[in-house]
Amino acid sequence: MYPTSVHPLLPQPTDLDPPAPTPAHPLAVLGGDVRVRVTDGRLLPYANLDVAATAPCAAVAAEAVARLLPTYASVHRGAGALSRHCTRAYEQARATVARYVGCRAGDQVVFTRNSTDALNLLAHAVPRGADVLTFVGEHHANLLPWRRAIRLPLPGTPDDAVAAVDRALRRHGPALVAVTATSNVTGEVWPVAEIARVARRYGARVVVDAAQLAAHGPVSLAALGADYVVLSGHKLYAPFGAGVLAGRADWLDDAEPYLRGGGATRHVDADATVQWTGGPARHEAGTPNLVGAVALAAVCAALTETCWAGLARHEQRLLDRLDAGLAGVAGVQRLALFGPGHPRTGIVSFVVAGLESAEVARRLADDHGIGVRDGLFCAHPLTRHLLAAVPAAATPAAPPTTAVRVSIGAGTTVEHVDRLVAALAQIAARPGGRCTQSFGAR
Ligand code: PMP
Repeated sequence: MYPTSVHPLLPQPTDLDPPAPTPAHPLAVLGGDVRVRVTDGRLLPYANLDVAATAPCAAVAAEAVARLLPTYASVHRGAGALSRHCTRAYEQARATVARYVGCRAGDQVVFTRNSTDALNLLAHAVPRGADVLTFVGEHHANLLPWRRAIRLPLPGTPDDAVAAVDRALRRHGPALVAVTATSNVTGEVWPVAEIARVARRYGARVVVDAAQLAAHGPVSLAALGADYVVLSGHKLYAPFGAGVLAGRADWLDDAEPYLRGGGATRHVDADATVQWTGGPARHEAGTPNLVGAVALAAVCAALTETCWAGLARHEQRLLDRLDAGLAGVAGVQRLALFGPGHPRTGIVSFVVAGLESAEVARRLADDHGIGVRDGLFCAHPLTRHLLAAVPAAATPAAPPTTAVRVSIGAGTTVEHVDRLVAALAQIAARPGGRCTQSFGAR
């Protein structure tokens, strides 16, 4: 139904083999049969090992969009049958997402563009004078928006993280604690529920950046004991352009609208004096992203407990294989904050002795048809901290300044992982050569 064979921008196949079989997993995603030509002329199935940046689109999301498009009409703006239909679809999507993220009575779901947008919206709504506690290793989306930030140094262990929040709240008083559930650099899981428990003792609120966690397990405000959660549709197997801020309504209802314009108003006088509306619409001025919201809700509805259990098994199997494979490649040095045994999702960052990470990523792409990310992963302080901890003996030529990140998800196969490990073994054994194009500054 959704032909995805070779992207028109990619080299066209002349000798297409049947796509490599993929093991069954409970969330079908598109793009498994995309092939790319590599430097020796072969066409290889594209191994997308950059799922943490953007996950492939789930078939259920594509189907929901395909069903919706013929009824395309205005949302919250029209009296016609299709407008009413689209308005209903948008609000149903909101209700589905609210259930999915464990909203409590009185919580709100605001549709945003992505997690960055959601965190900037919350930063805008934090009452003036309130401090925001974060760790300096947060993703930039959760590091930079806060106006009055107290940035805690990186903890050595999860217990240190909880204790640091406790000390800071005791010293500075109630605030908002902004913490990421799962690192986009190491995949390590942070003790979010424990931090939320400590925060509650001091009357502080917690926002959980679930941009990464959301793609690897259920996210529930109620279960985490958090006040707000943010996530991005494009990391949760839905298309680009829809994200979520969910949580307590009071700060959002008291804040000035995030965007000023149509849809957020109750009444506007001739002199443009405005009475703003309350609820999610207050911060969603302009015509909303109906398609994005519906697609995201379709994924949320598909991610039942059984589906998550299947996905977790699938990812753990691949992660174990990846761990074992990387351990056997001489010259690969992995990055971790809490240590190798700490629970984590399907993300591994590493450096390769004697090679710039951009060069490793380029060779994986050009010679092996594997997509990974290199750079500092929009978490410069954390990644630099982890790179500085790489023992000098492990990278004798020069200290590494960027890393390679591999990330897996629903569309990843055993063949992808095995191909990566074999390719890295080949690359690490024959360093040399330099990359001219680097994404290291990101
Ligand atoms: N937080 C984390 C932990 C992330 O990994 C990302 C994306 N890499 C973001 C926030 C920002 O997400 P987006 O780019 O979708 O706004």
